[in-house]
Amino acid sequence: MITKKTALDNLYKKYSQCFSCPLGGLGRKNIVFGSGNIDCIIMLIGEGPGKQEDEQGIPFVGRSGQLLTKLLSIAGINRNALFIANIVKCRPPENRKPAYEEISVCTKLILFEQIKIIKPKIICTLGSTALEGLLNKKIKITQERGTIQKWNEYIVVPTFHPAYILRNPQETQKCIDDFILIEKISESFL
Ligand code: SF4
Repeated sequence: MITKKTALDNLYKKYSQCFSCPLGGLGRKNIVFGSGNIDCIIMLIGEGPGKQEDEQGIPFVGRSGQLLTKLLSIAGINRNALFIANIVKCRPPENRKPAYEEISVCTKLILFEQIKIIKPKIICTLGSTALEGLLNKKIKITQERGTIQKWNEYIVVPTFHPAYILRNPQETQKCIDDFILIEKISESFL
């Protein structure tokens, strides 16, 4: 049986030059595959790479990423304990929202395979696009955040995207509360 690391390495190699959806040909510098602890209990899923993520090939390294690390820490979660990935692996031009087809193709090829390999207990989606991509339906993040849901065998807890919190700092505490909820659920898997 191959290890998780080998399975993820193989998946990365398979799609490291991917052009399976339009985002492959729209100026991306790097595929942002995802990074973190592959034996995690909690997996975070964001929307897509921004400028700095595209340049470095690592998710959540810009301002949103710094805020994410801080909010997780306030909730008692060490970012290094998590695996972090995005719904789409290539940067949408001008940071536009990824299109339905782009999400549909990329999640089936890569994200859903990553989840199957990593097998987290809890998936935390960041923002509406991430939850919509996972559940394949339209949602309102203001209604869904902080709720406990199921997707296949996984517990899903949605919260806001940190970029939204940067624009709407009055919502910061709600995001921290959602991470505290996730941390409490994760304790039952220790
Ligand atoms: S976004 Fe995903 S499916 Fe589209 S080209 Fe990039 S890796 Fe391939």
